[in-house]
Amino acid sequence: MQHLDCEVLVIGGGVTGIAAATAAARSGVKTILIEAKPFVGGNATTGLCLHNYITKLGRQVVFGMAQEIVDRLIKMGGAVGHIPYGDFVHSVTPVDGELFRVLSTQLLAEAGVTVLYGTNVIGVEAEGGKIQSVQLGVKGGVRTVRAKTYIDASGDADVAVMAGANYRKGDKETGKMQPVSMVLRCFGTNNQAIADAIAVRQPAMATRADHPVPFPVYFNGAFSQWNDIIRENNIFPNEDHKVFFNTVWPNHINVNTSAVVGVDGTDPLALSRATVELTDQIYRISQFLKDHVPGFEDAYFVPSVFAGVRETRNIEGLYEINDEDVNSGRKFEDTIGQICFPVDIHDPDTGQAYFYQIGDDGAFDIPLRSMIPKGLSNVLVAGRCISATSYAHGATRNMAPCLVMGEGAGVAAALAVKDNVDIPELNVPKLQECLEERGVFLGDRERRVKQVNR
Ligand SMILES: Cc1cc2nc3c(=O)[nH]c(=O)nc-3n(C[C@H](O)[C@H](O)[C@H](O)COP(=O)(O)OP(=O)(O)OC[C@H]3O[C@@H](n4cnc5c(N)ncnc54)[C@H](O)[C@@H]3O)c2cc1C
Repeated sequence: MQHLDCEVLVIGGGVTGIAAATAAARSGVKTILIEAKPFVGGNATTGLCLHNYITKLGRQVVFGMAQEIVDRLIKMGGAVGHIPYGDFVHSVTPVDGELFRVLSTQLLAEAGVTVLYGTNVIGVEAEGGKIQSVQLGVKGGVRTVRAKTYIDASGDADVAVMAGANYRKGDKETGKMQPVSMVLRCFGTNNQAIADAIAVRQPAMATRADHPVPFPVYFNGAFSQWNDIIRENNIFPNEDHKVFFNTVWPNHINVNTSAVVGVDGTDPLALSRATVELTDQIYRISQFLKDHVPGFEDAYFVPSVFAGVRETRNIEGLYEINDEDVNSGRKFEDTIGQICFPVDIHDPDTGQAYFYQIGDDGAFDIPLRSMIPKGLSNVLVAGRCISATSYAHGATRNMAPCLVMGEGAGVAAALAVKDNVDIPELNVPKLQECLEERGVFLGDRERRVKQVNR
């Protein structure tokens, strides 16, 4: 294998990593992306909504690469735009998982990122708060890669923690983490019939160029009317089990309703056991849907290929986004972007989902400092493992925020390389200028200054 050293090394090719690596490479620095799976896109490839672009008050605050992805997916037939929905969220942005994977692969290739698939970071050499190199487990053995700046987009903060960063796992008091789940993909469905039977309100309705008649693309509800059958056949552990449906097709739908609780997603054995349990659970759910729920009579079921992990480590950063920041919709001087999906917590004991609205105008800023691990000078952490309380993580873990953080981290890492400075010494106004040039929305400047001086 040829020489691998680079300027920016991104670890993890989920939504965060693809945005980070693409943004860094587009900024003109040599970028390598390391991904353990044989494909990029992470959890978005299971076919979910990119939550969320538009605040509770109806204002779009997420733009930049996150919006570019939606625009390109619409052209590919893999998205239907931001569709109004009147429940816990103002609007939804469903995407096709496979087309998200295709587009992610294209974006990285167009930007000139070298992607190493099927490669795990298994060790880090760090000295004086600086990562010197990382070790990769690749076919044929172990390889060492050196970079100037590193972006940890592993979801679990693997690299930052190996380099010595402090972290918290799950709830501060109990250590409990949100459950792991597996999305069930169902083909050959009658989505209108499913919505008629289950939706708690008018579903989000959309059209496609090849399907001009409006069809349901998102709705949520509960399986309460089948409680007896569910109890008898041990389908779910609780009554009134909640369920979320989304799609960009009239005859294919993704179901998010499985859960295994008490799993530490950083423990390979625990995650492997949960994968077995979820695969079995998903099979039982699919049989229940086919036998009892209208619209699934002729469906063909495909479980997503991996167990989805919602919560593991959050690093201790230069700033921790806290509960009050979320509840007050706080704006920060060192913002790299705004996010607006409500706090979304799947109960660690029951798996049931609960939502809590962001305060003020329904958006808060991601401060650069929350992505900088305390004590490390050439590493940024982006995605679900940034420095945030367990409650705040309920909002930051979602995919539009991950895209915002990924783009912010990529541009910041490239700037650090070009200006030859450590990450904590970055010229923040210059970074913000670069981000705004790329179409990232950093909030109303005057309002921001007023708020941070409060
Ligand atoms: C079941 C489920 C449903 C969800 N539903 C929604 C939803 O509807 N809408 C929404 O917006 N969000 C949803 N989320 C949350 C969201 O999908 C994730 O939080 C988000 O995708 C995380 O992105 P990420 O890039 O930070 O991490 P990940 O997607 O976890 O990506 C991390 C990547 O890094 C790789 N990696 C990890 N460690 C290493 C290593 N040591 N070496 C090399 N590679 C490594 C992994 O293989 C992975 O591809 C859901 C989450 C789950 C689990």
